[in-house]
Amino acid sequence: MRKVSIFGATGSIGQNTIDLIARAPESYDVVALTGGHNIEQLAADAQRVGANLAVTAFDARLDDLKNALAGTGVEAASGQAALTEAASRPADWVMSAIVGAAGLAPGLEALKHGATLALANKESLVCAGSLMLETARTHDACLLPVDSEHSAIFQALVGEDMGAVERIIITASGGAFRDWPLVDLENATPDQASSHPNWDMGQRITIDSASMFNKAMEVIETREFFGVSPDQIEVIVHPESMVHALVGFRDGALMAHLGAPDMRHAIGYALHWPDRLDLPVERLDLAKLGQLNFRAPEDARYPALRLARWVMERGGLSGAVFNGAKERALDHFIAGRIGFLDMAILVEQVLDRFEAGSGLIDAAMTLDNVTETDHLARQWTDDAMVNRAG
Ligand code: NAD
Ligand code: MG
Repeated sequence: MRKVSIFGATGSIGQNTIDLIARAPESYDVVALTGGHNIEQLAADAQRVGANLAVTAFDARLDDLKNALAGTGVEAASGQAALTEAASRPADWVMSAIVGAAGLAPGLEALKHGATLALANKESLVCAGSLMLETARTHDACLLPVDSEHSAIFQALVGEDMGAVERIIITASGGAFRDWPLVDLENATPDQASSHPNWDMGQRITIDSASMFNKAMEVIETREFFGVSPDQIEVIVHPESMVHALVGFRDGALMAHLGAPDMRHAIGYALHWPDRLDLPVERLDLAKLGQLNFRAPEDARYPALRLARWVMERGGLSGAVFNGAKERALDHFIAGRIGFLDMAILVEQVLDRFEAGSGLIDAAMTLDNVTETDHLARQWTDDAMVNRAG
């Protein structure tokens, strides 16, 4: 039996992971599940998969979790230290599916203990790519992509030499507003941005898809994961979300990965890697699909892509600044305090301020420095809001 833990078990990726694990209970010994406010789900799943431990990220919810698990034999815990402790418990395979920079510390801890880390939490690589990779190397741990584009690239690279890779193309659905007139974007609401044409995902990544911040993060993730240079990474809008990514080789060959938009494929690939086992995903009927469409992303519609290019050129802790500011701007958008287009404006202002006035951006990439940069970027996003209002 393989020992597995799932961080962010109550979310969209977490639930898809549990779906796969619950289909083969004889194969998995579940060590820990973690969640946030969704205590009922967390407690029910912990019992269903026979977890030893359930952790809520929020201390105020510990009593609820304890009550929900009373008499079940599942241990209950809460808070950041408990999340890190859960990540230190021996496991062969750990799913990193917390949303946001909060996923970084538990992921690093799992790597320090030599686990195979299935990484859905792209924020870890955006904020601290070299730290993640270095930690995996030092502790003989393995980092596997779960983001559908990165899983697709990883699969297209099996048996290939990176020296033969010319370019990597990741596809973007274009999100909720891809066909909206540009002038209407200013008034787009959080509700409108929260419905994705193809994928069923958590609210934050769904809004990030509409703004292309998700794709911007994924471009940086591609650079970190595969070690290619920024000019080797391209983004193409592909409304059907059937082709997830393509790898172009020096001989002109282009390998595409196709599949229905169902995250259980990428999760299952990381779960069974290096083997391929049966997965409960739809088989594509290409004749029925008929055609697939592709078009170049418009610069004016998607400023986040330009900011990602700047971050890759700048390097160091600029990814942590970018992510922290993006997360905070997204909080403000969801709360109705700023408009849809203001998110990219605020993030750019924070990046400018860091570039001009913070020694931190060039500081060493340690967990402490990343955390401090993340906090500062959020604070500077709030400052930029105040300046705007004033
Ligand atoms: P989600 O919002 O559905 O779930 C997030 C999970 O994180 C929940 O379990 C929640 O309780 C937990 N969480 C929230 N705040 C937390 C905090 N401060 N501390 C600890 N735990 C916290 O999100 P999701 O869509 O499942 O996405 C999870 C991660 O996977 C994100 O990094 C996202 O970018 C990435 N991802 C998701 C998809 C997808 O299809 N949903 C695809 C690719 C990548
Ligand atoms: Mg993706």
